[in-house]
Amino acid sequence: MIKVEHLRKVYRTGKEKVVALDDINLELAKGEFCCIVGASGSGKSTLLNQLAGLEKPSRGSVVIDGQDVSAMNENQLAIFRQQKLGFVFQSYNLLPTLTAVENVALPLMFKGVAKRKREKMALEQLKKMGLGKRGSHKPTQMSGGQQQRVGIARAFVGRPAVIFADEPTGNLDSHTTVQVMNAILKLIRENNITFVMVTHERDLAACADRIVTLRDGMVLHDERMEHPKTAYEVPEGEADADLNDASFESAPQAPAQADAPCAPPAEAVPAAAPKSAAAPADTAGIKAALRAALAPQSEKSENSTAKPQQAAENNTPKENTTHENEA
Ligand code: ADP
Ligand code: MG
Repeated sequence: MIKVEHLRKVYRTGKEKVVALDDINLELAKGEFCCIVGASGSGKSTLLNQLAGLEKPSRGSVVIDGQDVSAMNENQLAIFRQQKLGFVFQSYNLLPTLTAVENVALPLMFKGVAKRKREKMALEQLKKMGLGKRGSHKPTQMSGGQQQRVGIARAFVGRPAVIFADEPTGNLDSHTTVQVMNAILKLIRENNITFVMVTHERDLAACADRIVTLRDGMVLHDERMEHPKTAYEVPEGEADADLNDASFESAPQAPAQADAPCAPPAEAVPAAAPKSAAAPADTAGIKAALRAALAPQSEKSENSTAKPQQAAENNTPKENTTHENEA
């Protein structure tokens, strides 16, 4: 499903040259769950960005489902991402003016799914993430764990062939991480989705079929796991560390929470947002915001949903200067 050959990425800033990735070779099968681990700065995010076509490699190629992502232009990439790829980022990337259902339904809009149908599909996907009652909530009315589950629902709703996730549980407490990871595991296994997840927590990688360890931009280990765990558990000593997101409704895969606090009563939950006139009505605006939300140029610029076009332009020159001429 994914084939990486002699991938190299060099960043240049002024006279400084950082070899972020050096001669990466990797092949991932359909339905494989691959964790990319390694110390901070080892090149994990850079690798994910090259795989997802969010940045151009300096050398080498990335082929996904038979198509050379590294050779595509921006338009081809945009279409390819819409049809084949899903993304989950550490900082959620939800559009603040849209409800959970609207956020999740966005990728389906690009696929031409009619409004009523895509909102129905979005709500079904939210239910799978234990958020059936939060469909009309805006991101600010939800906890971090809930927002990330909306982000995951959005990544999965179009059943993409491949999903990339960069530290999807990085901002979550250990209890919420268990719920989010197990929800992801269920979805990828049920739908045979190829899933590539960056993490720096080795415990999370125990559920993967494959663990690729990076060091200084190179593959240090490439391990195939014989018996990956089918469910993720809180690592020893971290159990009950904090339980601030007990809102996972009716998720069969969530572990029993005998001593976890109950979900707040309905009155304590912020009222569902009224259908706001401020919700963007123009398709162009939604598309621009979505492009930024679903395919940020990098972790650094991913929050710049306000002016996605400008954010992209700001990044491009820097990236263009990074191409090496070593022939
Ligand atoms: P990780 O995700 O494993 O923490 P990264 O892939 O973010 O590591 O970074 C790998 C290396 O590349 C680091 O030395 C980092 O400083 C450098 N790097 C990443 N992005 C850029 C960039 N846009 N410009 C310059 N250097 C970068
Ligand atoms: Mg990173």
